[in-house]
Amino acid sequence: MAAVIHQQLRFVIDEIDKAIESHQKWYQDLLRVLVSRVPPDEKDLRNDAYKLCEFGEWFYTSHVELIQDHPTFVSLGHAHENMHKSAKQLIELVVSEQAIPVTMFDEFNHDLEKMRTQFQALRHEFANLVQNLDPLTGAQTRAGMQAELNKEHAMAKRSLQPSALAMLDLDHFKQVNDNYGHSVGDDVLIKTVACLQQVLRPYDQLYRYGGEEFLICMPNTTLEQAERVAERIRSMIAQQQIIYDKEGNTLQVTASIGVTSLDPAYSVDDAINKVDEAMYQAKTAGRNLVKVR
Ligand code: GH3
Ligand code: MG
Ligand code: MG
Repeated sequence: MAAVIHQQLRFVIDEIDKAIESHQKWYQDLLRVLVSRVPPDEKDLRNDAYKLCEFGEWFYTSHVELIQDHPTFVSLGHAHENMHKSAKQLIELVVSEQAIPVTMFDEFNHDLEKMRTQFQALRHEFANLVQNLDPLTGAQTRAGMQAELNKEHAMAKRSLQPSALAMLDLDHFKQVNDNYGHSVGDDVLIKTVACLQQVLRPYDQLYRYGGEEFLICMPNTTLEQAERVAERIRSMIAQQQIIYDKEGNTLQVTASIGVTSLDPAYSVDDAINKVDEAMYQAKTAGRNLVKVR
């Protein structure tokens, strides 16, 4: 699952690059129509022109779940649609041999610029995301963690909406490596993250904090809600049967999870220390447990 996210992001970045390139070519063709009066492409005169360009076809037919509701992606859709609508007006005037009012031309340029900015913003955002993903599990690396947690902490302070942290550490993971080999250990990490992705919401953040340790940030989540989420994760991991050989033999792992709130009353570092302590309490109390601090 995590690997899929990695692939999807790369796929989207590819599509954005293609769209930037094809719109560059499209723009040159448009200038030929406006300046040299060569006949326009019929598609550009249709009301749904924005659905018919190369990017539009991809944007309105492929369903990349991961990004469909992403705010920059949604804004890009609007900017792209507006730009095509403005272009249509210009072409119509040229076809009917009328002059293009300068305000209309300025408006088109503005829409075009807006679309280009949105393309770049989305590309930048997704490229950053891919760069900060752990290649093995697809969880985020610690690279951008502190900044994100600070943002979340500030947001919790402003909105008075609680946020929660959870720290998860696999139990006796060294034994998995020792008994089954490192590559099976790697597979267990991948399956663990897949479990986490199933339970977490799209706006929750998941970081690979250490080798077999993961930090989760849950915005707008009370301590009680976070505890329930952690309990679901714990139970799902414990129930998971992980196939480790060609014969289909399976192994099981468990995790110890600490939960605390990202309380505006104390610092992000304090919250991380607390959630770490809660996780260790779960370890000392017998493992395969959730503890709240
Ligand atoms: P505890 O229940 O106390 O957490 O015991 P543990 O064995 O999980 O803890 P310990 O910290 O002793 O061992 C963690 C192990 O995780 C040791 C390390 O080799 C392994 N590990 C860390 N990163 C990776 C990885 O990327 N792949 C694999 N296969 N193993 C890893
Ligand atoms: Mg461990
Ligand atoms: Mg550990």
